[in-house]
Formats: sequence, structure tokens, C-alpha cells
Amino acid sequence: MSSDPTETSVYVHFPWCARKCPYCDFATEPMRSDALPHDAYADALLRELDARAGDLQGRALKSVFFGGGTPSLWAPNALKRTLEGIREAFEEAADEVEVTVECNPSSLDREHASLLREAGVNRVSIGVQSLRDPHLRFLGRLHDRDRALAALDGATKEMPRVSADLMFGMPGQTIGELGEDIARIAEAGVRHVSAYALTIEEKTMFGSLYRAGKLRVAPEEQYAELFEHAERCFTDLGWTHYEVSNYADDGELSRHNLHYWRGGAYVGLGAAAVGCLDQGPGRAERWRNEPNPQRYMRQQILEVEVEELGPDEIIREALMLGLRTVDGMNLVSTERRAGRQPREGREHEIERAIERGNLVWDGDWLRVPVDRWLKLDGIVRDLF
Ligand code: SF4
Repeated sequence: MSSDPTETSVYVHFPWCARKCPYCDFATEPMRSDALPHDAYADALLRELDARAGDLQGRALKSVFFGGGTPSLWAPNALKRTLEGIREAFEEAADEVEVTVECNPSSLDREHASLLREAGVNRVSIGVQSLRDPHLRFLGRLHDRDRALAALDGATKEMPRVSADLMFGMPGQTIGELGEDIARIAEAGVRHVSAYALTIEEKTMFGSLYRAGKLRVAPEEQYAELFEHAERCFTDLGWTHYEVSNYADDGELSRHNLHYWRGGAYVGLGAAAVGCLDQGPGRAERWRNEPNPQRYMRQQILEVEVEELGPDEIIREALMLGLRTVDGMNLVSTERRAGRQPREGREHEIERAIERGNLVWDGDWLRVPVDRWLKLDGIVRDLF
């Protein structure tokens, strides 16, 4: 399926967390919840929306994703005002706009989930990461197993759709442990899981510890074993492995993320947010907002980076994102966006990848078979 070119998603970045996790390199700052500028941040987002009104003309709202950071720390009223402002800023909207909020178990309970639902949210994505206390302690998380299960229980009672994030590759983690976590999460009523490998990012506390030889990491083979085991567990549940790190039960695929992986237009709002809007065939503009939340709220400078994308960049991004999904990259919609046939100039590389079984050409789609996803980065790089 190729998306309607006017459909546009909105990503809202909430740049604060209760505490910085030692592996995280996202644009977030630690902040006590009683010091959060709940309303001032909503006001700044609404000002940004006003400033971008011209860019939204003729666009239809597809989905909204409140990410971060920890948006579950945000007062639901402030989030509600922002969401209402977003809906009003678009002349049209998809039939059922998916509205997701990322939540941490330490700041989500049934009452909070109910307030989010009343605010117009219809999906939460909960950063469970693991249901094993030793792994949660290793990851420096604020919650334990019981708290994670309580958050899942409250969310599934109040929210139409619930997703959970899992992390794998903690030292000593076994496939049995991962399998049990997956089973318990599904039993709690969750119907979508994002399962990410723990990676050591340079500018994090884990990065420093690793360089100093003070952090134990899992060997490469353990990652592959855990990835393959997760795939087996979700397949047994009847779920689809629809993107390298994402699994869903029927009808539960994340519309927001699919839109992004298919190269759809999106507006980024908030400190450090990134947006990318098409400007006609072969042209798109990507921007990144001021990352410092205080400076962002003063809004002296909104964007700190603006990048013009041409046909080559648009095609490379389509390959990079589209080939992560089970359907692959749509050749027709990519040609419409890039103003050029994506196969042009890489016919030989595509043919070679097909011969090796790394790529399948299926009607208007080019895809990497799921059993080759562990080698995905190399396969995509060869097509650049
Ligand atoms: S809660 Fe999430 S966004 Fe915040 S520091 Fe931890 S991993 Fe990063």
C-alpha cells in the first residue's frame, strides 16, 4: 500500500525524564516532576504550530506520536491542549487518527491511562524493557517487574491499544528469560511489541564505562540468538514481524511508524524534534529544532538545522527505511516522491542481491526476506 501524499503525521518531543538512563543518547534532560514546565511547554508547542500553519495547508492529519523523553510525566491537561491544537491546525484528518503516548511504568497507572484516554489518546507505548529485576537494575531503570506489570494492567484496562518496548542483549540474558517476558506481556493484553537490541552509544554513561573497560557486554552471537528467539515466540503467538524491531497482532501495527518507514511526511514539534515535509517531486525539507528546552520555549530560534533533500537522498532514505519492513519499499510511491525511478543507477546491485536471495522484487515492491534481516544493514549499504 502506498500512502496518500497529503497524509501527514505529527511527532511531539517531550524532552524530560525523571532520570537519565545510562544507555540512552536521546535528547532528554533529567527533571523532577514538580519542576516540569507543563503549561509553558504546551504554550511553546502551540506557538510552533502557529508558526508552521502555512506548511500544513492542504494536508490531512494521519497520526500523532508524543515521544521523548517521558511524556507520561506531562500533565494530561497540557498534553490535551496540545493535541487539540494539532487537530485544529489541520483542515482534514484520517478517519481514525492514531494518537500514541510513550510512557514509563514509573509514571503510568490506571488513573493516568484513563486521563490520557479522556485527553484523546488511543494508544500507549510502555517502556517495559524487561520483566527481570537484575536486568532492569543493570539498565538503570526506575521501575521493577511489579511496577511494569501494574502499568501494563492499568493501561490495558483503559486504553484501546497498548504496545510495550523490550530490550535484549543485556549481559547474561537467556533466551528462556526473553521468551517468558514476551509470554507474560502478551498475557497482560499487550498486542504490539518493539524489541530493540541494547547498543552502547558513545556519548552515554555506558559508552564511558565501556571505553574504560568497566562494562560487561553481551557477545555478538547472543544478540543473534535472542533476535531469532523473539521472532519464534511472536510467530507462535500468531503475530507479524512487520519491521526489524516490531511485532504486532492483527490490526495492531503502528500506523505512525509505518507512515514514517514508508517515507510519509511528518511534522516534528518541540525541542530537538525533527520533521520532514515533501516540497514536490524530487524535493523535501528536513529540519531539526533547537534542542535546548529552555531556549526552545523562549523560541528565539526554532530550527537549528535545515536540510534540502534531492532525489538521491529521498531514494536512499526510502531504501533505508522501507527495507526494514516486511512489505519493503514501494517503487511507485518512491518514484512519485523522488521524481525518479529508484532502480535507476542500481540495476546491477539489485540484480545481484536478488540472485543471492537478499532481495525480492514483488510487483511494485522491493523487499528483504525476513530470514535475511540480521544482515539488513549490509544488504541496504550495497544498494547505495
Ligand atoms: S526514560 Fe527513555 S528517554 Fe528517558 S533517559 Fe531513559 S531511555 Fe532515555
